[in-house]
Amino acid sequence: MSSCDCGSHGGAGGLKSLEDALELLLTHARTVEGREEVPIARALGRVLASGVVSRITMPPWDNSAMDGYAVNSSDLVAPGVRLPISQRIPAGAAGAPLVPGTAARIFTGAPVPENADCIVIQEVCRRDGDHVVIDQPAAPGANIRRAGEDIRAGHEVLTAGTRLGPQHMGLLASVGVAEVSVYRRLKVAIFSSGDELVMPGVPLGPGQIYNSNEFTLEGLLESIGCEVIRLGIVEDTFEATCTALEAAAAQADMVMASGGVSVGEEDHIKPAVERLGSLDLWKIAIRPGKPLAFGHIGNVPFIGTPGNPVSLFVTYCLLARPFILRSQGVSGSLVPRAVSAKIDFDWMQPDKRREFARARLDLDAQGEAWVSTYRSRSSGVLSSLAWANGLAILPEGTPLRRGDSVSFIPFNELLR
Ligand code: AMP
Ligand code: MG
Repeated sequence: MSSCDCGSHGGAGGLKSLEDALELLLTHARTVEGREEVPIARALGRVLASGVVSRITMPPWDNSAMDGYAVNSSDLVAPGVRLPISQRIPAGAAGAPLVPGTAARIFTGAPVPENADCIVIQEVCRRDGDHVVIDQPAAPGANIRRAGEDIRAGHEVLTAGTRLGPQHMGLLASVGVAEVSVYRRLKVAIFSSGDELVMPGVPLGPGQIYNSNEFTLEGLLESIGCEVIRLGIVEDTFEATCTALEAAAAQADMVMASGGVSVGEEDHIKPAVERLGSLDLWKIAIRPGKPLAFGHIGNVPFIGTPGNPVSLFVTYCLLARPFILRSQGVSGSLVPRAVSAKIDFDWMQPDKRREFARARLDLDAQGEAWVSTYRSRSSGVLSSLAWANGLAILPEGTPLRRGDSVSFIPFNELLR
């Protein structure tokens, strides 16, 4: 995978480039204050607040990588050598120093006895009563896992800012760490603006649609470990928007809202956030999802996305997600990794804005990866996101032909 720089700088026609918007956002991201100790079994998805140093060496001692016989290679003078079996060392036993001229029966994970320098795998040995006949030579060091080949005592095994996955939980356990210090979960209060919205479960009246953004957003935020406070649907008035924003900022580390971010008569986010704090409204050179509102209510950051369900999704993935990860204390690059793959379509009317197309990466019969895009480009079509398995980046102003390569960001880079 290559790192996706998502194309060149400079937005079209006074628009802000994605890179500039992201950079500006990240300069405002403050890591959440507050840490807690959690047992490693409860640490999945949490972000380490301090690095973890191993107090032990792993493996603690040389051990056998296979079931077989521990011998000294100098005793394997010729194929068919017959050695007495002087001891049996299963995993969990300590074993005694190897008596010269003998073999020790040994099992995977058991400590290699002193004086032995290799393990002969059982497949090339024949048991003969209390002796073993060894049909193949073995070199010193064969089938031995060395002490410390994984980890040395005193080494930092995980650095602060690591978001813990199952592999990290296992690593922590392997060095005997039972609890880790992680940042407190980021609390994000969310609401949806729109008089047309109702909650699923009730019948639709005239002019109404279901509030889907709340659920998309909640899922997106929970998938990266946020605690979500749902404030529901907010009517399209200045007063109701101010009330919702105040309530949200009072109980959360961050506020996110969808809808009402444009500058129409029915859009109250901008004036309401400006009344309570400060706000910038950016037009970003991406499609879908042009407008993004970013501001503060007191110290609490606010991100407002367009109401169109696909625009919400794309602006969240490209802008809000990295901001939130940084606020959670995640270190390192937050740029999703894109792969390069060929497109299976012609793209002769490119947009002036960079398009993040809902796309699928599939393999053909030869195992080659091809990107296809959804039939509709409408930012209202949620079924396109359920169909897609990633976003294809179609560069601004660049016609493309079938077989040209584009960058493709798999959803698994974005939805966790
Ligand atoms: P807005 O950004 O408020 O102008 O909304 C743009 C479009 O998105 C309109 O068609 C809205 O009906 C739709 N929309 C706004 N909020 C939501 C929501 N929470 N769930 C589903 N669709 C929405
Ligand atoms: Mg609206």
